[in-house]
Amino acid sequence: MAGPTAPSPTELKEHLRIMRELRQQGQAAMTWGLPNPATEAAVLGMGLVMRDRLADTAAPDCAAAAASLAAGILDKTIGKMPQASSFQCAKGCNFCCHSAVSVSAPEVFRLIRLMDATPTIDKPAALARANARKASSMDAVLAFKTPCPLLVDGDCGVYAERPMGCRQFVSTNLAGCQAAFENGSGELPFVPAAANAGLVLRSLLLSASASLGLKASTYELSSALSIALAEPDAEARWLGGEDVFAAARETPQPPNMQGSVQRWSQMLAGLFV
Ligand code: SF4
Repeated sequence: MAGPTAPSPTELKEHLRIMRELRQQGQAAMTWGLPNPATEAAVLGMGLVMRDRLADTAAPDCAAAAASLAAGILDKTIGKMPQASSFQCAKGCNFCCHSAVSVSAPEVFRLIRLMDATPTIDKPAALARANARKASSMDAVLAFKTPCPLLVDGDCGVYAERPMGCRQFVSTNLAGCQAAFENGSGELPFVPAAANAGLVLRSLLLSASASLGLKASTYELSSALSIALAEPDAEARWLGGEDVFAAARETPQPPNMQGSVQRWSQMLAGLFV
């Protein structure tokens, strides 16, 4: 049977033009954030630049670099929102650090690399806190106000590189955050558009991972940290295609995420056929 025919020089030239334009759109988002409205080409372009970072396995921190890129686009997007001047969030405010945090594998590896590079972070203590928190149900975490394992003396120990699940939940209502914390409901008054931007960018990071054959799910932060802190080869194994965080997988996965990850990952993989 005849194999696929090689593209003609004209087809190849057109393909390269499309790839170049998509990458330009992705790189523009690094400066300006998600465009509004977000066109399909712009979203695909962002996924493509994330995929490029992840595929660059000659760089040992490729997963962390892809997570950093996605977080940077999210920050730019949130920073230009009309509500931005009213955001009450700041380092040291930790009402929302007693709720569940959803993360992707590249974000976990970004945290581990930061922890490895920061001698003041006590990794064994963080592992002990992660193990203790993952042993509790989320209802108990909220009721007993059990903090995130990365919260130390009221401060986030990884604030500059905190996961998108923390960055996307911004609030203009500090009193509402305090009330939600005190009554243990976990119903914090977040800005929906910012949370939605976080969902889009995390979906793209997962799509970039899936398009390369890497495991692409979301995980509960404490459980994922307890694995990554205890298993130093977790990042290499994940980059080899292993589902290293299977035991930390969130069930169910965030609503609407699986469908968009499937769609975008197929489109990204299709660019390389
Ligand atoms: S990672 Fe930092 S910002 Fe996020 S919940 Fe933990 S302590 Fe809070």
